[in-house]
Amino acid sequence: MPRRSEVGKKTSKHDSETCQVSECALCKLKKPFDLPPEIVSAYRNGKLVIFAGSGVSTESREVYPSTFYQYIKNKLNLPEDEEIRFSKLMTLYSSPPRSRKDLLKAIRDRIEYVKTFPELYNRATEFHQELSTIPHLDIIFTTNWDDFFERECYATPIVTGQDYVVLEDTPGRKVFKLHGSINSFGSIIATENDYRKCYRRLNTGVIGGKLKLLLMSKTVVFLGFLLTMKTFRGYTAY
Ligand SMILES: [Zn+2]
Repeated sequence: MPRRSEVGKKTSKHDSETCQVSECALCKLKKPFDLPPEIVSAYRNGKLVIFAGSGVSTESREVYPSTFYQYIKNKLNLPEDEEIRFSKLMTLYSSPPRSRKDLLKAIRDRIEYVKTFPELYNRATEFHQELSTIPHLDIIFTTNWDDFFERECYATPIVTGQDYVVLEDTPGRKVFKLHGSINSFGSIIATENDYRKCYRRLNTGVIGGKLKLLLMSKTVVFLGFLLTMKTFRGYTAY
């Protein structure tokens, strides 16, 4: 089982309650909200499932000044205002003169960099640290490549159908990593080709089956996604 990171505990955490900084960039991102009672009752009845996107992690505005998407776009010298799908951008980046290896290295570097700096790591894992304090919230789906749910919430990663078959009955938190894991480069879903493979697998495999079942029978809360229909086309079509 991965050990909970000690990194974050060595720095003092930003606390909005006591923060004195005027125009604080972190406090500005703390928006008040009402927790819908449906979510509370779903949690009480053990029916709450978390579906987490990159906005709760490395792509949170508190972590990097620009997103991975923007970073890659700059590397390719594409105009700022050009609209291009994420997977298309990843395909372009891994095409000659570069290769898939360059894309995977860029992904790894982004996550490793965050892990190197305690303050960044703390911000990138704020959500995970909070979630780790909530008992019985045992099913997490994520499209994130990083291993922060494993590190911070002691979640057992399920990446392949085989993982699922073997680990399904083990107690405790599980994180279903729909777009693969940084700890297994072969599993990473990023390019258009990867997405096609991923959709096919979700459509026919055991993890996709589990996801379909949960979407029908539980309350699934989506966090950290840019809410466009495109984002969910792949997951809601089945
Ligand atoms: Zn502040």
